[in-house]
Amino acid sequence: MTAAPGALPEQFDRIRQSIPSTVTLIAVTKFLSVDTIRAAYSRGVRHFGESRVQEAIAKQADLSDLPDITWHLIGSLQTNKARKAVEHFDWIHSVDSLKLAQRLDAIAGELNRVPQCCLQVKIVPDPPKSGLDLAELDALLPELDQLTHLKIRGLMAIPPQGASAATVRDVFFGARGLGDRINQQGFSRLHIDQLSLGMSGDYQVAIACGATMVRLGTILFGARPPSA
Ligand SMILES: *Cc1c(COP(=O)(O)O)cnc(C)c1O
Repeated sequence: MTAAPGALPEQFDRIRQSIPSTVTLIAVTKFLSVDTIRAAYSRGVRHFGESRVQEAIAKQADLSDLPDITWHLIGSLQTNKARKAVEHFDWIHSVDSLKLAQRLDAIAGELNRVPQCCLQVKIVPDPPKSGLDLAELDALLPELDQLTHLKIRGLMAIPPQGASAATVRDVFFGARGLGDRINQQGFSRLHIDQLSLGMSGDYQVAIACGATMVRLGTILFGARPPSA
C-alpha cells in the first residue's frame, strides 16, 4: 500500500508534542514536498525551515493560501541570494560573515523589512563548516551592533559531524555562554534571546542545554530523499 501524498510517519505527533512549549519547533522540509508541508501544517506546525532559497520560493508560491507560516532559512546563504532571502524568509539562521550581515541590512532597509537573524557560530573548530569562530565574532560585535535593519537576536551552532556526546554538550553550553557574554557587553541593538541548537540526533541535549529553537527534519518526517 502506498502512503497518501504527504502522509506523515506515525511518530510525528509524539515527537512534536515532546517539544516543550517554550521551545520553537522548526520543521525542516528541505527536499520534501508541499504535500508534506501541508500535512504538518494541518497538525499545527507553523514554523518551517528550508536550506535553499530557490526551493523555498517555489514551495511558498504553492502554499500562499497558508498565511501564517513563519519561514526560516537554515542553510548557508551566498551574498548574491541575500535579496531573495530577505524577501522570502522571516528568519535567517546562517549569518556567518560581516559582509553578509551588512548586505542583508542594506537590503532590509531598502525593502522595509526586518529579518530576524541568528549568527552562525563555531564553538569548537570545524573546518568544513561555515560560521564565525569566537575570535572573529568578538572582533565583529561592535560593527554588527551598528546594523539598524536586521534584528540580530540569536546564535545557531551545529556540532561537528561525528562529535562525541561531550563535544555536543560543549558546543550547546558554549553557545549559551556566548549569548550571555554578548548580552553582558551592553550593546545598544545586539541582544541574544534565541539559541537555535539541535537537530534530529541531538535535540534533547540541546533543549537541556537551553535551546529555544530546534530544527528537526528526519525525526519528524523520516529519511529525506537524496538531494538532487
Ligand atoms: C537539514 C538540517 C537540519 C535538519 O536535520 P535532521 O537531522 O534531518 O533533523 C537542521 N539544521 C540544518 C542547518 C540543516 O541543514
